[in-house]
Amino acid sequence: MGRLEGKSVIITGAASGIGRAASLLFTKEGAKLIAVDRSEAVKETVDQVHKAGGIAEAVIADAGSENDVRAFIDKAVSKYGRLDAIWANAGISGGLVPIAEQTVEHWQEILRINLIGPFLAIKYAMPHMIKQQYGSIVCTASVAGLKSGASGHPYAASKAGVISLVQTTAYSLSGTGVRINAVCPGLIETGMTKPVFDRAKERGTQDKIGQLNPLKRAGQPHELAAMGLFLASDEASYVNGQAFPVDGGLTAS
Ligand code: NAD
Repeated sequence: MGRLEGKSVIITGAASGIGRAASLLFTKEGAKLIAVDRSEAVKETVDQVHKAGGIAEAVIADAGSENDVRAFIDKAVSKYGRLDAIWANAGISGGLVPIAEQTVEHWQEILRINLIGPFLAIKYAMPHMIKQQYGSIVCTASVAGLKSGASGHPYAASKAGVISLVQTTAYSLSGTGVRINAVCPGLIETGMTKPVFDRAKERGTQDKIGQLNPLKRAGQPHELAAMGLFLASDEASYVNGQAFPVDGGLTAS
């Protein structure tokens, strides 16, 4: 029996990287999935799930839009009868822009997707999960939200906000049976970081990637998916309100 056997699950940012790896792993473990992304490529994720014998439906939606979030959560509940877990994973980096050139619009768009998106997922998932007295919410933050580094300012601020949101929400969910946690990826090879890897390949410096962490390599999406699976599943039944780095030890050094 799979670790998410029969569970109704939503994953956002499911067209690529961590969200795609999680979609494949969760459904392999028996989840019935609503795979959400604003990119049409989410249909390829769902095709891959179906080829592997899993259950999933693709929804093209904006994870930072209140109407869209309400609609895809309602869809999961009407299709599968309940909502056991949601992984608010969609995010954008916004790149490295000097402060003097950053605009309010640039900040607002990053905060809208990276921070308000998880808030909306929590807001609309909570009532269903509280009614069930059961549920697990996972949010993707980042090591950029834990320590200073070379990330963009609004990105790092949005991810620090996600960690704070998760911690405060754990208390708001006191006594409901609903858990919430964050994962904090280090450098992971995904669509988001492709420019970094492409540049390094051009310069022949790919061996230098990931050298800042004790494992001396970048992470792969399935290594994040594994942490998300643990947090979404009953194996993490006493794990709540925490932010877990999955970073090869970067934040330990
Ligand atoms: P990715 O670009 O491969 O995947 C992100 C997915 O989110 C894409 O499919 C994109 O279309 C989708 N998305 C973006 N905005 C959206 C929106 N408004 N609505 C719906 N979908 C949207 O990148 P990834 O690395 O897999 O990113 C997943 C999460 O991991 C993000 O929150 C990111 O900030 C976080 N993260 C990644 C790294 C890394 O090194 N890759 C490090 C730290 C944190």
